[in-house]
Amino acid sequence: MPTFANRVAPFGTTIFSEINNLAAEYGAVNLGQGRPDFDGPPDLINAAVKALQGGQQYNQYPPGIGAPEFRKALVNHAAKFYGLDVDPNRGVVATPGATEAVFASIMGLVDPGDEVIVIEPYFDSYVPNILMAGAKPVFVPLHPPEWTLDPDELRRAFTPRTKALLWNSPQNPTGRVFTRAEMQVVADLCIEHDVIVISDEVYEHLVFGTAQHVPIASLPGMFERTVTVSSLGKSYSVTGWKLGWVYGAPELVTGVMRAHQFIAFAVHHPSQIAGAFAMGLPGTYYEDLQSMYTAKRDILMAGLNAAGLKAKQPEGTYFVMADFSDVFDGNDVEFTAHLIKNIGVACIPPSPFYCEEHRHIASKQARFAFCKGDDTLRQASERLAKLRR
Ligand code: PMP
Ligand code: GLN
Repeated sequence: MPTFANRVAPFGTTIFSEINNLAAEYGAVNLGQGRPDFDGPPDLINAAVKALQGGQQYNQYPPGIGAPEFRKALVNHAAKFYGLDVDPNRGVVATPGATEAVFASIMGLVDPGDEVIVIEPYFDSYVPNILMAGAKPVFVPLHPPEWTLDPDELRRAFTPRTKALLWNSPQNPTGRVFTRAEMQVVADLCIEHDVIVISDEVYEHLVFGTAQHVPIASLPGMFERTVTVSSLGKSYSVTGWKLGWVYGAPELVTGVMRAHQFIAFAVHHPSQIAGAFAMGLPGTYYEDLQSMYTAKRDILMAGLNAAGLKAKQPEGTYFVMADFSDVFDGNDVEFTAHLIKNIGVACIPPSPFYCEEHRHIASKQARFAFCKGDDTLRQASERLAKLRR
């Protein structure tokens, strides 16, 4: 009997699908996958409907690099929020979500045998992407409870074979928003070792309080060695649209485009027209988004703390990492199964976001998503109270 390739044999099923299935089976309140249970802005949905009904022009292939309207809006957004100067014709590629943007970046920028530095805990697709490219992941863990990088550990990860570093801030799953000073350490090492940064910034607009999102491409000397990845999903509550992008220096983006043209070629055209509308929304849209999520974060934080978990207040993203060691004796996978089956709440165990050797670092942690209705968060909090010893 024919069977699948060795390349994918070790991958298994993503933890997000696994937990969704288990949560549905046990009727758990699902704070697992980062999937809003509310809709995106009505004006944005209307812009998509209008594009779909706009006839021929938007219902056929757009250019492979993206619709001109979308690329122009992306470039304006990058200039307005970050002061970046992106070339709309040579420095941008529209992709099916940030997931393909990262994959196309790795395929287009990294050679077999190269090393790619990955900060742990990492978003789950990064390592399979690196392995599919025939490259080698080199792991550098963040240190709880504050989830900080050790500059010496990071320095030791660089070798003459290092081609790229995958950066993610605001960071999933820890909720860290790295400071300019922390990022300068990363930038200095990448410049010293002539390394490319693939910067995943999908939570760019989800920052709280005094935290500020700084694109690593905006640091001196970094634009020419960085490709910045993001998508519409989190900023506009439309994760199902799967519209993302890569932008950066034309020399690097050319590599990404060469891969992308033979992975997806082009991306859903009507969504790009609506995406151009989204990227043009005023600053007040993001202020409202941030205050909505601040309130949700506070509901979940209160529920987790009342249940006896030690939750770390996130500076960004819509996730909270919480230490459950005071209320449960097993590891993160056992805790998650207990929570779903006996308490009625689903979360994500972070161990799949680590290499084997570092898995113990988060073995007493669980990730909870707060991109949910306030009533859902309150219901989850009531159920979590049963954990208290
Ligand atoms: N990167 C990170 C850090 C994420 O949390 C996610 C989850 N949405 C993605 C990439 C994937 O984004 P998209 O849905 O746009 O592919
Ligand atoms: N980014 C989402 C999360 O971390 C999951 C997206 C996915 O299922 N791949 O929850």
